Amino acid sequence: MALMTGKQYRDSLNDGREVFIDGEKVRNVAEHPSFKPIVDVKARMYDMALEAKYADTLTTRLPDGEVVSRAYKMPETKDDLTAIRKHVETVLDDLGGVVYRVGDETIGEMWSLYDAQDKLNEIDPSYAKNIRYHIDRVAREDLFHVSANTDPKGDRSKLFGGKDGGTLLHVVEENDQGIVVKGAKFETAAAYAHQAFVKPTILDWNAGSEKMAPFACGFICDMGAPGLKHICRTSLGSDRNPQDYPIATKFEEIDTLLIFDNVLIPWENVLFHRSLESAAYIRSTLHRYSAFNYTLRLLRRADYLIGAALLNVEQTGLTHLQAVKEKISELINYREGINAHLTAAVADAKRSPGGLMMPNPSLLYTGRVFALANFPAMAHLTRELVGGQLAVTPDSATMADPEIKQYFDQYYSVGEWTPEDRGRLLYYARDLLNSSYAGHRTTFELFAQSPPFAQQMAVFNNFDMEPQRELVRKAAGLNQSAPVSK
Ligand SMILES: Cc1cc2nc3c(=O)[nH]c(=O)nc-3n(C[C@H](O)[C@H](O)[C@H](O)COP(=O)(O)OP(=O)(O)OC[C@H]3O[C@@H](n4cnc5c(N)ncnc54)[C@H](O)[C@@H]3O)c2cc1C
Repeated sequence: MALMTGKQYRDSLNDGREVFIDGEKVRNVAEHPSFKPIVDVKARMYDMALEAKYADTLTTRLPDGEVVSRAYKMPETKDDLTAIRKHVETVLDDLGGVVYRVGDETIGEMWSLYDAQDKLNEIDPSYAKNIRYHIDRVAREDLFHVSANTDPKGDRSKLFGGKDGGTLLHVVEENDQGIVVKGAKFETAAAYAHQAFVKPTILDWNAGSEKMAPFACGFICDMGAPGLKHICRTSLGSDRNPQDYPIATKFEEIDTLLIFDNVLIPWENVLFHRSLESAAYIRSTLHRYSAFNYTLRLLRRADYLIGAALLNVEQTGLTHLQAVKEKISELINYREGINAHLTAAVADAKRSPGGLMMPNPSLLYTGRVFALANFPAMAHLTRELVGGQLAVTPDSATMADPEIKQYFDQYYSVGEWTPEDRGRLLYYARDLLNSSYAGHRTTFELFAQSPPFAQQMAVFNNFDMEPQRELVRKAAGLNQSAPVSK
C-alpha cells in the first residue's frame, strides 16, 4: 500500500455507488458538475502529499517505515499535535480556501474509540482489534474517511418503536457474515468518500433501556456497499460563474442523506454492537481530537474575514478612521481568541486514557464554542466594513459589457484599484458573507460537529469545577466539602 494519487482517488469513486442528485442518478461522481470541484480539491490534496516540497509536512512514517499521510497518524506527543496543525494550515494555504470534511477532520473520531479499547475488550475483544485494524488501514490505504452521526429523527416518540423497528439506524439481522443495518444518516462528503464511521446519534444512552440495544452500534461502512443510497442536496456552486462566486464554485461540499437499505456490515467492520455503554462513551468523547482540526478551520475563516474587511476599507481610504480601526481590532480579537485556545490546547495537552496525546479538552471545547458563538457577529462586522456594494455590485459579465464598461471605469475605479479588482474583491466578500453558499457554510459550522447545546455540554463535562468550589468554600468559610456530582 502507499499514498494515493489524485487520479487513483478519482478512479476509486467509480465503484458502483448509487448517488442521486437533482432528479438524476450520477454515472461518474468525479466528473459530475456538482461533485467535480470538490473531488478536484480532494484529488489535489492527495497529489500534494506526493510533492517533494510538501513531503515533510504532509507525510510521516509508521513504526515499520511505511509512509502515510500526516493526518492519519495518531498523536502521541505535543509535537505530533503541532504537526497536525501544520498539516491543516499547509493544505488550506495551498488550496486557497477552507474545506472541512476532507478526511483529517473526521479521523480523530476513530482515535476517541481507540481510547476506549479497555471498555470494548470487556464487551468483546474483537471490537478493540477491529478499531486498531481500521485506524491502521485508513493510514496505509490512504482512505478518505468521513463521519455519520445524525439520523433524520422525525417524531421523537417513534425513535425506537413502530412496525419497522424505529426510525433511527439499527441492526435488523445478525448472521455469520456480520450485521445487517437499516436506517439513514446525514453525512457531508459521503458521495465522494471511501468509508464512514457510523455511530449512534446524540441521546441519553446512559439511561437507555434494553429496547435501545439494536440502535447502539458503531461500524465502518464502505461508501459503495450494496444497499447504500446517497441522496444528495443540490449544489450551491455548480451553476455559478467562478468569477462571481469564487468560493462556492471551488469549495462547495455536498451533503448526503445516506440510506442504509439492509446493508450488510462484515464482522471485521463492526466496532461495537448492542452496547449502550459504548454508545454513551463515543458520544461523550467523539470530538476529543477532531475538534482541533475543525477549530483550525474556524481560525482560517477568521483570517479571511480580516483580509476581506481590511482590503475593502483600504481601497476606499477609510483605514485612518478611529472607529474603523476599532472594528478591525474586534476582528483581530476574535481571531487571536481562537488562536489562543488552539495554541494553549497543545501546550497543555493531556495524555488520553488510551495513551495518546489529546489537545487539552477544556481549552479545545471552549475554543470551539468561542469561535462558533461569535462568528455571526464577526461576519456581520465584516459585512458592515465591506459596505453596501457587497450587495449591489453587478456581476463580472455585466462589468465587461463594452456598451456600459465606461460607467464602471468611472464609478468603480478608486486610486490604484481597477474596477475589475474592486469587483473581484466584492464578489469574494459576497461569497464569504452573503451568498447561498455563505449561508449554508454558517449552518454547517453551527451543526456539523454536533449542535450548540451538545457543544456546551462538552464544555461543562470537561471543565474541572472542583477548584472553583474549593475557592468559595474557603473564602466563605463553608463546612460543606463533599464532591458534587455533575
Ligand atoms: C450542513 C450540515 C452538514 C452536516 N453534516 C453532517 C455529517 O457530515 N455527519 C453527521 O453525522 N451529521 C451531519 N450533520 C447533522 C448535524 O450533526 C445535526 O444537524 C446536529 O447534530 C443536530 O441534529 P438535528 O439536526 O437532528 O437537530 P435536533 O436534534 O432536532 O436539534 C435541533 C435543535 O433543537 C434543540 N434541541 C434538541 N435536543 C435538545 C436537547 N437535548 N437539549 C437542548 N436543546 C435541544 C437545539 O436547539 C437544537 O439545535 C450536518 C448538518 C448540517 C446542517
